[in-house]
Amino acid sequence: MEAIGVDRMRRAAVVAIGDELVSGQTVDTNSAWLSRRLEELGAAVTGHWVVADDAKATADAIAAAARSAGWVVVTGGLGPTPDDLTRQAAADLLGQPLQERPDALEQIQERFRRLNRRMADINRVQALFPASAGVLVNPIGTAPGLRFSVGGAECFCLPGVPREMRMMFDDTVAGVIAAGIGDGRCRLTRTVHTFGIGESDLAERLGDLLARGTNPQVGTTAGGGSVSVRIYALGDTREQARRMLDDAERRVRDGVGEFCFGCDDQTLESVVGELLRRRGQTLALAESCTGGLLGEMITAVPGSSDYFVAGLTAYANAAKVALLGVEESLLAEHGAVSEPVAEAMARNAHARTGADWALSITGIAGPDGGSADKPVGLVFIGLAGPGGASARRYVFPGDRETVRTRAARTALSLLWRALTVEPE
Ligand code: ATP
Repeated sequence: MEAIGVDRMRRAAVVAIGDELVSGQTVDTNSAWLSRRLEELGAAVTGHWVVADDAKATADAIAAAARSAGWVVVTGGLGPTPDDLTRQAAADLLGQPLQERPDALEQIQERFRRLNRRMADINRVQALFPASAGVLVNPIGTAPGLRFSVGGAECFCLPGVPREMRMMFDDTVAGVIAAGIGDGRCRLTRTVHTFGIGESDLAERLGDLLARGTNPQVGTTAGGGSVSVRIYALGDTREQARRMLDDAERRVRDGVGEFCFGCDDQTLESVVGELLRRRGQTLALAESCTGGLLGEMITAVPGSSDYFVAGLTAYANAAKVALLGVEESLLAEHGAVSEPVAEAMARNAHARTGADWALSITGIAGPDGGSADKPVGLVFIGLAGPGGASARRYVFPGDRETVRTRAARTALSLLWRALTVEPE
């Protein structure tokens, strides 16, 4: 809506091409990434068009996008196979035949030379361009991009491979759009992440900071048990925008208090990892209903071998007894999903592995297996560390995947809290 009143060269549109995108096999992360970047450059994004590998559908989408905005960024359909039709769509839109472009061909040949590979004949089609289109260099792939004007809009066609698309956008396209928008102002964003506080409670704490139409602009987004606070600042210079971000971040952190765990690319698992590394401490896990999910999250962080010792997935009761030394009497008396069992799992994982900290998770992820006193979503999380072992009860709403993810993230948050309050 906001875009309608905005001058055309401050509006951008995104077109993503690929059968796998329209069929849902691949999630269109390129458009989301491009939207964020375009917004940072100061362009209001009017829409996303997602179309199948079809020359007419692609041309129609680019034409529609070009009617809505002064900048159009297209991703996908630049490969060498017959289903890669972005070049053809550009030729159709411009009413010009495709011709082999020597500079594009040289770029592709050079890429193969550097890789020490023979260039297949089919790669020659990637050097076909309509006469008025410019060639955009692809430093890490074979497909050069295209740049052309259509219907008064400037159109950039980039590969679908996310890494290539991002690099080409940042290297070649972003500067052109920033200069074209031409107000010389700098837009910066920062996202502060919180865990353990609901969106409305957070909004109450932030108060006037969330007012619309302000600069810096502050907004919240919730998902997976955490709420993120996004700060967007517009400054006359980069330095001024950065100062505005710093100041707003301080006010957000003051408002959010102990619920704030990091910002931008930081995740609970990366922050916990950093805290453990700084203390020279280690972590072990005993997982039941999450089946190793927490171990997967922790070890997805590069360098986690510095602090991650072991993860034991003990699903069956017999495994909880044999591998984790949980007393059979505890299981018989309280059941596997209980506070005493969660506590024993954490305590024994701590003792058996010699790690400084141990987390345990036992629960009912559903959809079956719930009862009146032990409903689906009931999860006990144990934590053992230098100060002893304890466990807490939670009931997470949602389906099996949501319950498991919430359980793993909540376990991480317990350790994060312990690491931030316990003296080193
Ligand atoms: P190129 O133009 O580079 O040849 P393409 O459209 O032919 O791209 P594909 O070969 O279909 O690309 O896909 C290459 C890889 O990029 C695949 O892993 C695919 O899932 C991914 N990909 C393509 N488009 C997108 C998108 N919009 N968002 C996320 N991933 C994408």
